[in-house]
Amino acid sequence: MAALALISKIGEHDGKEVELRGWLYNKRSSGRIHFLELRDGTGFIQCVVVKGEVSDEDFEAAGRLTQESSLRLTGTVRADARAKGGYEITVKSVRPFQIAQDYPITPKEHGVDFLMDNRHLWIRHKRQHAILSIRHEVIAAAQQYLNDNGFLRVDSPILTPAACEGTTTLFETEYFEEKAYLSQSGQLYNEADAMAFGKVYCFGPTFRAEKSKTRRHLIEFWMLEPEMAWCDQEENQRVQEELVSYIVAKVLEKRKAELAVIERDITKLEDIKPPFPRLSYDDAIDILKEAGREISWGDDFGAPDETLISERFTRPVFVTNYPTSMKAFYMQPEPGRPEVVKCADLLAPEGYGEIIGGSERIWDPKLMEERMKQHSLSEEAYGWYMQLRKFGTVPHSGFGIGIERTVAWITGSEHIREMIPFPRLLYRLRP
Ligand code: ATP
Repeated sequence: MAALALISKIGEHDGKEVELRGWLYNKRSSGRIHFLELRDGTGFIQCVVVKGEVSDEDFEAAGRLTQESSLRLTGTVRADARAKGGYEITVKSVRPFQIAQDYPITPKEHGVDFLMDNRHLWIRHKRQHAILSIRHEVIAAAQQYLNDNGFLRVDSPILTPAACEGTTTLFETEYFEEKAYLSQSGQLYNEADAMAFGKVYCFGPTFRAEKSKTRRHLIEFWMLEPEMAWCDQEENQRVQEELVSYIVAKVLEKRKAELAVIERDITKLEDIKPPFPRLSYDDAIDILKEAGREISWGDDFGAPDETLISERFTRPVFVTNYPTSMKAFYMQPEPGRPEVVKCADLLAPEGYGEIIGGSERIWDPKLMEERMKQHSLSEEAYGWYMQLRKFGTVPHSGFGIGIERTVAWITGSEHIREMIPFPRLLYRLRP
């Protein structure tokens, strides 16, 4: 009997007879031969059905298969250097399960809106399959790195009573008799977790009601947030450059085929190794001014500014020491320069812009109290957070890495919308 096989592992069955279960991706036929391109969720492979080598019934069944019809087939695995994955199947039997009618996404060009309306089907496409497989690898690698380096995964709540990153981009919802907000970052809870477990991370969806319609912003995105007790900003950046390099190396090792499908220039990724360059916010402002951008000290960078800076580097670059006024209340001021904080954004190269935001957190109870007053943060909402500074406070740091931004860079994709199975965008909540 033919063994059930997966296309991604087809090489393990070279020369043997296997059963494959999947969907018809594409078909070419001449009178005596059908070339079926089958996908099974793990990959794509060409299956050749030759008249006379299968029963007449099966040859006819193969001829009736339409795009996205579901089927089972058996056949012999043959190594073939000309085939895309290195193998093809000489078919012995074909069993259609359902003949699909009028699949809407045909091989012709479709507009983005049409494809987005059909996102539930579009994810079957080869390019989407490659991107979302790479997304999986990015997440798996990131967790692997952290797990191997003494971090404990301790997740943060999604329903929260107060904002972490400012109130303008909060989604509000009812929580029985009171209001709750969808999480914009797990960081404050992460800080509590770090005081309990030392090195922690949380991973989950993050919600930002950003009214800006850019190719870098999702309304719902996934963020991985490590937080470390007894850690300063230098060490924080070292962890970031190691983590990002590890992620890229794992994608290169495990997803070569997918990178080839999307035609990514991997030589650019092969150079991603620590150390990453560091650039102060002050110097970044000078670079932008020299390049003719209208910007002054104290302004935040827009996407074009980030692009301009990151295009100058072949590795991700840390932009450090942003103005205190621009950043969150919990960031530690730079000693002797209170107008800037100990923080860094990591900008991906090739113009991809920010993928990580991180900082050293204020540990001093007095300074934290001052900051909370300046930012009008109530004792009622943030009392528990203050207590972290009262009961055994220590220097600590952490960061958040946006999964979809990272995948956009690694896959060399223009727009963030294809980096998540079902994107939530300013004007899109469906499907
Ligand atoms: P930006 O200024 O680009 O909007 P931010 O400064 O608000 O980002 P952080 O709060 O530092 O970002 O979040 C950490 C990381 O989360 C970012 O570096 C990015 O990778 C990711 N991220 C933030 N906002 C979004 C978004 N709307 N869509 C996708 N990823 C995001």
